[in-house]
Amino acid sequence: MSEFKAFSLLASIIDRLSLKGYKQPTPIQKECIPALINGNDLLGIAQTGTGKTAAFSLPIINNFGRNKIDIKAKSTRSLILTPTRELASQIVQNIDDYSEGLGLKTKVVYGGVGRQGQVDAIALGLDILVATPGRLLDLIETGDIHFEALEVFVLDEADTMLDMGFFNDVQNIISKLPKRRQTLLFSATMPAEIEILAQAILIKPTKIEIAAQTVTIDLVNQSVYHLEKSNKVSLLFYILKNPDFEKVLVFCKTKYGADIIVKALEEASITAASLHSGKTQAMREEALQSFKDENLRVLVATDVAARGIDVDNITLVINYNLPEDPRNYIHRIGRTARAGKSGMAISFAVENDVRQLTTIENSIGQVIPVETEQPFHKEFLKVTQKIKKKKPVKKPQRTRNKRK
Ligand code: AMP
Repeated sequence: MSEFKAFSLLASIIDRLSLKGYKQPTPIQKECIPALINGNDLLGIAQTGTGKTAAFSLPIINNFGRNKIDIKAKSTRSLILTPTRELASQIVQNIDDYSEGLGLKTKVVYGGVGRQGQVDAIALGLDILVATPGRLLDLIETGDIHFEALEVFVLDEADTMLDMGFFNDVQNIISKLPKRRQTLLFSATMPAEIEILAQAILIKPTKIEIAAQTVTIDLVNQSVYHLEKSNKVSLLFYILKNPDFEKVLVFCKTKYGADIIVKALEEASITAASLHSGKTQAMREEALQSFKDENLRVLVATDVAARGIDVDNITLVINYNLPEDPRNYIHRIGRTARAGKSGMAISFAVENDVRQLTTIENSIGQVIPVETEQPFHKEFLKVTQKIKKKKPVKKPQRTRNKRK
């Protein structure tokens, strides 16, 4: 029997979850679903990959599926605000999947695509609206949406909103919402700004904290390759000679760099595409879909574009450039080894990266082993000594749930 049955969810939702192969709720779902069905506000310290989308969306779908109402024109019963278009599309796909057969009206809105279809859908009234901040503000300003009927507000990836410079937009949107509502705030980390916002918008929230993806990290075979900058492309080709790496996600620093790598790969008849904010939305969606469908072997992405993307069976993540923000190291390598599978992560490091590499190692509490058995290996004397001296820090706990 599915453990989801314990939550008194509608039978059709349980069926959809079984069809998707979800056998038991993830830790965040176990904690969130009952609290949200009870109508509590919620503060979830958790990141993508923990199953948080189902954690917040199942109670909304369940509630609206049970209590259907005539929705006012240009209004929505719930609003899910998320930072990127990719995350927004992913969330609405999940919601449509979980709610099939219930007749709920859902819509996703983001910029970079035509707005009339979005305006028309909202005009009919929605149960669930998933939105990115820019386009939503635009629709508010033109009077195409109001929030008189809003019951639930979900702020997803609050710290990413801050990192991406959307915080004012988010606060502006919140100021338009009715005070009486259920509010959920999710954030992977809790910088001071988010702490203050949480205190301002949440009323006696249930607090749930799921430790960073330590489970995933344990399943990722990580290594670092020391090399000269000029050998990076050659090393990439050398690694890709291994046919076992069927689905490879490469992270690099700049849009320009991503496009150059793709060009080099294509010239070598390796199917590849780039995913970054310089591409149109249609191109980004096409690249992601081709990668998901395994029509592309390599996807080359920048951090912002790839944040939270959910693609199954990635065999290898390559950090062509180390992430500038050490937290992104876990986000990046967490793209592989999903759903209990193992995966591999290779980081390229040039001599100038030494300090950044140490910061990353400190942040994950592990020393990443150096792979010396590769043709472009370069000895970095100082680093090798430093890593040898350093003892691996105690591994973080697997999962920590805290409920206040
Ligand atoms: P999320 O953190 O919401 O992005 O979810 C990460 C991945 O886990 C997605 O591919 C979900 O479809 C999947 N997932 C969510 N809940 C479960 C579950 N209870 N069992 C198995 N997979 C799940």
